[in-house]
Amino acid sequence: MKKTLHHLWHQAWATILVEMSDQEIGWLVRARNHISLLDKRRTTMIVSRVRLIAGLFALLTPMWIVVDVAAFPREVWLPLAVARIFATVAFGLVMLSAQRMHTTHDAYKALAMLMAIPTAFFLFSHHHMTQFQLQGIQAAFSTGYAFLPFVMLAGLSIFPLTLLEAIAFISPLLGMEALGAVTRVAVLDWPTFAASFWLMVLIAGVSTLAGLSQLAFIIVLVREAIRDGMTGCFSRQSGEELMELQFILSTRSGSALTAVFIDLDHFKQINDLFGHDAGDRALVGAVEALRSHLRMGDMLTRWGGEEFLLIMPNTTAPMACRALARVRELGFGTRPDGTRMTASIGIAERTRDGAEDWRQLVEFADKRMYTAKQGGRDRLVGCDDE
Ligand code: GH3
Ligand code: MG
Ligand code: MG
Repeated sequence: MKKTLHHLWHQAWATILVEMSDQEIGWLVRARNHISLLDKRRTTMIVSRVRLIAGLFALLTPMWIVVDVAAFPREVWLPLAVARIFATVAFGLVMLSAQRMHTTHDAYKALAMLMAIPTAFFLFSHHHMTQFQLQGIQAAFSTGYAFLPFVMLAGLSIFPLTLLEAIAFISPLLGMEALGAVTRVAVLDWPTFAASFWLMVLIAGVSTLAGLSQLAFIIVLVREAIRDGMTGCFSRQSGEELMELQFILSTRSGSALTAVFIDLDHFKQINDLFGHDAGDRALVGAVEALRSHLRMGDMLTRWGGEEFLLIMPNTTAPMACRALARVRELGFGTRPDGTRMTASIGIAERTRDGAEDWRQLVEFADKRMYTAKQGGRDRLVGCDDE
């Protein structure tokens, strides 16, 4: 059963988005294995949309007080106005607190806070309204309050959520509606409830699909933007983003972060003696050799030309030094004339070198690479034992 569903899911997405790999289709289901650049884009998108909506509602919620005052008697509108003021303040706080958010966890928090406010407002206003026997135009306005869960479900469609995340955010809303029905079971108008519940389920389905298709587009865009076409390394731009993100994460958790600057030695000679194509092949060969010796979490960025930045999260300087010594031993492939390709390497670690931001950490590594060049090339600078 599970296998059939899995197969159907893959078939469906492969039909809509032919260019997605199995792994990427898996990313539509759950966020756990998302690569960090995708995480970052998605977090930025979710958080900025949360802020936009919170800001919008911080403006609209109090404005509606005028309508309530005009439509309802005092005992109806006054508590509503107080609730609206509370909601306005809460929306304002969400907007402000969502300023510095960097991880998926932060995005969940922001979205959960955003959803909690109208939910609380709905529970209060709904309960409040049922205490009055409103007629005519007043009844029409009070019915409007019952639409809030529908609006919230529809609103979820602007967030690029995975299937599991969508289910997690939708089920409390559906649960709330179902619970409301159970508590009013004696007086409930079942056909009306069933129809409105079915409508909610349909809106939830459409919202989920809208979110998934946004996520799918982000996945494809991220994939195309992050890699350098020739070497398959991360591009300079994504390398900078990765570095910034890793620096924030490592500062937060107090873990080590090592940056390694690698510049191939006498590369221009290859171009001059053997031509640009031979140079390209030597470059790709060097990257392949380098890559095959790295750990899973290490990120290799083509910083420019024949210069690379290797980002090693959770790696102390001695650990990085041992890894790079091994890489040097195994080599960076061969030059067209059959001799060894060598590189000058500079290592810097966040805590040991006291780097204040990611740019400074890269700068330390770059300076040490330059020292390695001046010292005669084919060496490693920045290890404790020199
Ligand atoms: P060293 O670093 O040891 O000081 O010497 P170098 O010759 O490697 O240094 P430099 O930075 O002056 O030159 C780098 C050369 O790499 C210049 C450029 O022609 C070549 N290069 C950069 N990117 C590519 C590329 O994508 N393909 C090829 N074929 N050559 C490239
Ligand atoms: Mg060079
Ligand atoms: Mg260079």
